[in-house]
Amino acid sequence: MADSSVPVRTLNNGIAMPQLGLGVWQANDEEAEQAVIWALQTGYRLIDTAAAYGNEAGVGRAIASSGIPREDIFVTTKLWNADQGYDETLHAFDTSMEKLGLDYLDLYLIHWPMPAVNKYKDTWRAFEKLYADKRIRAIGVSNFQPDHLQGLLADSQVVPAVNQIELHPYLQQGETVAACIAQDIQIESWSPLGGPRGNVLDDPVVAELGTKYSKSAAQIIIRWHIQSGFVVIPKSVHQERIQENIDVFDFELSDDDMQAIAALNRNLRMGPDPATTNSK
Ligand code: NDP
Repeated sequence: MADSSVPVRTLNNGIAMPQLGLGVWQANDEEAEQAVIWALQTGYRLIDTAAAYGNEAGVGRAIASSGIPREDIFVTTKLWNADQGYDETLHAFDTSMEKLGLDYLDLYLIHWPMPAVNKYKDTWRAFEKLYADKRIRAIGVSNFQPDHLQGLLADSQVVPAVNQIELHPYLQQGETVAACIAQDIQIESWSPLGGPRGNVLDDPVVAELGTKYSKSAAQIIIRWHIQSGFVVIPKSVHQERIQENIDVFDFELSDDDMQAIAALNRNLRMGPDPATTNSK
């Protein structure tokens, strides 16, 4: 992280995670490779992919060709729903690592809890084994609501280091955020700009703040995530936007302006509801 101005968050097992990274959902393998190359050149050191995105190989090629020491890059991938279960997880992890071309992973996440399928505890036991075997530096979950977290915590050895959830000004997830803070679980925001539909970026309050701080709507929103203490992973496959999205460390939103964004919450999901999503 030496080349980057991005701050780090210290996870509950003591390891450092960059607070801003690049997401690559809906980028194909070649697009993801190019986007990660640009991001690493621009100072990003956190990359967020998933088995389900079909671009782990492209991400791996970009990392390999970057010339940046492996230990300076924080790589996250996720276990897909169809691979939940103890043996299935161990196998899926090896497949992801082969595609990424890595010999250890920084963060592995259970992509969705799928409560009705009810395999997430067996899946987590496999995560704990991979963690104990030092193949992963931190293990976590994604899309877990407080009741899923409770179920996991009641039956496990390792507290998840991270919960990656849909979080943006229109969906602020106060209850889940509070439950994670209580357990020292780092919140990571997915669809931090509101996702591909983009309507959060068009919000008039955000536009007004953009004018006030001479920043774009995306930069205002990313800065709000940073000042809220969340890890944030905006996705773009455009070089100028990748640069724009990391250029958020030369200004600070006032308390009043943080409040103005907090007041935009309308509990509006852009993605699926984890309580009812069993396959995505
Ligand atoms: P984001 O909120 O990051 O928004 C991405 C969209 O915004 C894209 O259409 C992108 O277009 C556009 N965009 C990016 N930067 C700018 C900018 N500066 N100005 C205007 N438009 C911009 O949505 P995502 O849903 O991709 O979420 C981010 C990441 O979170 C994903 O890539 C993935 O890694 C992760 N994620 C995890 C999920 C989970 O279940 N755990 C679910 C969904 C996402 P373009 O690329 O054309 O520039």
